[in-house]
Amino acid sequence: MCQKSKALGMNDKVKIYCCNCNVDTWQQILFEKSYRSPSDEKYDYCSKCMVTECCGCEQPHYRFSSWMQNKDGTGMDMEDEWVFPSKQLREKPSWNIDFAFSSVFSTFLDGSSEKEHVWDLLREVHVSLQSDCPRLGIMGVRALLEHIMISKIGDQKSFKKNMREFQNQGYISKIQEETLGHILEVGHAAIHRSYSPTQIELIAALDIVENLIETIYIYTEKAKNIDCNIPKRKNT
Ligand SMILES: [Zn+2]
Repeated sequence: MCQKSKALGMNDKVKIYCCNCNVDTWQQILFEKSYRSPSDEKYDYCSKCMVTECCGCEQPHYRFSSWMQNKDGTGMDMEDEWVFPSKQLREKPSWNIDFAFSSVFSTFLDGSSEKEHVWDLLREVHVSLQSDCPRLGIMGVRALLEHIMISKIGDQKSFKKNMREFQNQGYISKIQEETLGHILEVGHAAIHRSYSPTQIELIAALDIVENLIETIYIYTEKAKNIDCNIPKRKNT
């Protein structure tokens, strides 16, 4: 039996990257099972699944590993392994959870699903980034940008006109208009010219669009709350 398929037992610990601690941590094995199925006359396909719990923060993880080995259990090839939840490629913004709650309340209380759509799209872009799907991610960023613009200024029937009107109505500055134009161009290339953006490009686009969401949806709410607490001026 090869070392990899050897059962470690419930009291054993393994070192796995903890998505909560953001480092490799020792993790208690809660469940473990190995599988072996014949692939052809010479090799077997083997896999092992494991459920663990971080000894530091108690975050659970699921680890699946697979490989090919000789019939006699020696030699390993085509090894593959993934862990869920996986390593975070980028921190989500600090307002992410608050925005999720407020977007649902906004739909319920105001009858407008604008914020909820924004949050849904943003969540899908985060999933695309984490799942190594940069093309889907950048298309999502483009859709998100379009949704925000049309919600605020109505559909002007083209990206360029939407962007211009968005700037004319003061939602973005001239410099931001140029920056967002680059994102739209990358999104267009991914949809129509088979361009695959790098993770760095997707993260940069996400940074920019999150900054826009923060300005339009988060800061305006905070400003309203501050305004409510300020004593009114006396009439002179
Ligand atoms: Zn942990």
